[in-house]
Amino acid sequence: MDRATNSGLILGIDVGGTTTKLGLVKDGQVITRERLPTLGHADEHAFADALADRAGQMLKTGDTLEAIGIGAPNANQFTGIIEMAPNLPWKQNVPLARMMEQRLGIRSVLGNDANAAALGEWRYGAGKGFDDLLVVTLGTGVGSGIIVQGQLLLGSAGNAGELGHTTLVMDGRPCTCGRSGCLETYVSIRGIRQTYTELCGDSDVLREEGVKVIAAAAASGDKEAQFAFQWTAQWLAVGLANAVAMTGPGRIVLFGGIAQSGDLLMAPLQAAFRKGLLNIYQGRVDLVLSELPADDAALLGAAALTTL
Ligand SMILES: [Zn+2]
Repeated sequence: MDRATNSGLILGIDVGGTTTKLGLVKDGQVITRERLPTLGHADEHAFADALADRAGQMLKTGDTLEAIGIGAPNANQFTGIIEMAPNLPWKQNVPLARMMEQRLGIRSVLGNDANAAALGEWRYGAGKGFDDLLVVTLGTGVGSGIIVQGQLLLGSAGNAGELGHTTLVMDGRPCTCGRSGCLETYVSIRGIRQTYTELCGDSDVLREEGVKVIAAAAASGDKEAQFAFQWTAQWLAVGLANAVAMTGPGRIVLFGGIAQSGDLLMAPLQAAFRKGLLNIYQGRVDLVLSELPADDAALLGAAALTTL
């Protein structure tokens, strides 16, 4: 079996705060999709029962599932356990990989969703061919996965690559991790909305989802909105240039809601990133947007966990 090419049929599962997505993946393509509410189950065992049922329904007669890859927040790849995830309904540790193996009898791999995204880009997306790669997901928070010399960087406890929680500003904005000044408090969706609100005092923007309202304002000439993107780009450039100095990627791939704001973010980001890069890395690392379809990226990433 050639795990690196995922030649067989893989089930990718992306466990999110409200919805869990399932996708059958073959040859780097999602061929069947399903979803299941993450909330509303009596406990984690009932959730795993429902997940296994849904997976079984997706398989046609004659299908042979090679493996199951599960991406989830706070998932530890070493142990196969989701560890007290603040945004999931179960406050205890959930050994979801083992629970799925018990129910379906198929090898199951659980991994952190940010690492899954990195593997998805590496195997199937814009990171293909780059054995030194940094993938940063700019969503409600900031997730990152790092590939070094063809290996996903896991660290001593399985949780390496937390770029979002590196400190950018001493005593800066409070972070969900309990500390302050973390990168994600400035460059996530939450961060840019806070920046815009601080600049113009428009609290209505905080009631909106995502950054589309700010992007639309910037496009129509709103100076504060334009500045919010430029300022976000500056902070992100500092974080990325620091990360390059640590792991030396040949490419950085950006994914997620803010990354879809196009040139509003990318133009000032590219300029600030070049300016901030240590001279030995100039010309040796590029910064690109994800090429994976947004709806399938998490499923492909989850499936790619099984290729490790
Ligand atoms: Zn933090």
